[in-house]
Amino acid sequence: MKDKPDSTNKKAHKVFKTDADWQSCLTPEQFYVTRQKGTERPFSGKYYDYWEEGAYVCVACGAELFTSNTKYHSGSGWPSFWEVANRENIELKKDTRLGMIRTEVLCSKCGAHLGHVFEDGPPPTGLRYCINSAALNFVPDKTK
Ligand code: FE
Repeated sequence: MKDKPDSTNKKAHKVFKTDADWQSCLTPEQFYVTRQKGTERPFSGKYYDYWEEGAYVCVACGAELFTSNTKYHSGSGWPSFWEVANRENIELKKDTRLGMIRTEVLCSKCGAHLGHVFEDGPPPTGLRYCINSAALNFVPDKTK
């Protein structure tokens, strides 16, 4: 897979909290998605049909993950991006849950589960980062 971030990151996460700590600073939905690898219902999240200009940061630790420049309409019901904002902040892992082989996308700073990446995205990367709204916080671009 071309242009994909390094998937061999075995470093410990810089931001570490216990589940109780995460539960106290995240909503139940955010906790379910980011710490329990849950998936929000399609077309239910706040960002799948959101097109303001700015950055999408990790809801758990604030690391910049994606930007509106690479967000596109995938029709999947989840926010979709064809590239990441900062490869250092993204970790990829093989996920064999649910009887499928998928590539899980995590925040490398805090280990938050974000979603999965698929190879059916648009040019120039051909990638589709399928990300839960509940794992993201939008930060408007104040230069616009
Ligand atoms: Fe994070």
